[in-house]
Amino acid sequence: MAPSTVLAGARVVLPTGIVTDGRVIVEGTRIATASPADAEVIDVRGHWLVPGFVDVHNHGGGGASFSGTADEILTAVRTHRLHGTTTLVASTVTDDMDFLVKQAGLLSELAEQGDLAGIHFEGPFISPCRKGAHSEELLRDPDPEEVRRLIDAGRGRTRMVTLAAELPGGIDSVRLLTEHGVIAAVGHTDATYEQTVQAIDAGATVATHLFNAMPPLGHRSPGPVAALLADERVTVELINDGTHLHPAALELAFRHAGAGRVAFITDAMDAAGIGDGRYMLGPLEVEVSDGVARLVQGGSIAGSTLTLDRAFKRAVTVDRLPVPDVVAALSANPARLLGLADRVGSLEPGKDADLVLLDEDFDVKGVMRRGAWVVGPQLP
Ligand SMILES: [Zn+2]
Repeated sequence: MAPSTVLAGARVVLPTGIVTDGRVIVEGTRIATASPADAEVIDVRGHWLVPGFVDVHNHGGGGASFSGTADEILTAVRTHRLHGTTTLVASTVTDDMDFLVKQAGLLSELAEQGDLAGIHFEGPFISPCRKGAHSEELLRDPDPEEVRRLIDAGRGRTRMVTLAAELPGGIDSVRLLTEHGVIAAVGHTDATYEQTVQAIDAGATVATHLFNAMPPLGHRSPGPVAALLADERVTVELINDGTHLHPAALELAFRHAGAGRVAFITDAMDAAGIGDGRYMLGPLEVEVSDGVARLVQGGSIAGSTLTLDRAFKRAVTVDRLPVPDVVAALSANPARLLGLADRVGSLEPGKDADLVLLDEDFDVKGVMRRGAWVVGPQLP
């Protein structure tokens, strides 16, 4: 590849809107403002250029999970990269505390190498009433001492902890996380509206897969959903796979939170990028059928088989959301949440050259990460 590349003629989605016949200049690993005379020009007319996707909640893919070995973790990372995710936070599921501490050491090493953007602990501090696909016998109350163990185990790479703040120690744990610069995410929770407001006031800033694994919106007991949607400080995660959310629920969240406070996530498990079959989610067995992952025991939905390119296509073609709003929910908003907005999340000069090339049907035709093509470009 030439030292400098110009991608010319695309519909480029910038934070300010869509530029038709736009161009993105890549120099080394970054996006540049001007191109030298010897730059290679690639004609990408008829395509969209959008920032690389940022997934803050993802358990695995390609037959491997973030609870596995280093090789398995990298397999999952590569699988999602092929689908446009250039920044990825590895999520664990509820497991034995000693196992989580050990796994955090491994994940933090891969984060230091630049393969991961951090660690998200989903559980064990969650509600047995809303456990979803988490092992009930391994759940525990959010004791701040144990929360601190997970913060420390990530050696500066623990980015988010999902917890049920209504449990004993919950609010103190939210405060502790916030003090350490770790995102406190409200999820797998049975909290009331009032308890959720208290958690947000204590520092919680994320709704873990809003609507899923929490009490539904009721007119006399509005629950976590109303509190999380209403508060400007909260970013709401949404799993846009057509299974986890009715399209009307997605629309309601998008209208209410506005495009600036939504982060599309995959919550993907091992089967993402592969297909149906038997898999493990942490210690639990999962059957994937027609792309829907369910626990073998009990039938609870067990993560998704989603990739963010499919979430993008669905949001535009089925949900009919405006492309810039979808781009914000897939890139800028999660990047800001992670404190990485100076590096990734938009196609602006000086940032990492992380981008996705999509054709008119919103299918991936190229993925570039830090200036290197991971996929394609596949051009007619
Ligand atoms: Zn999850």
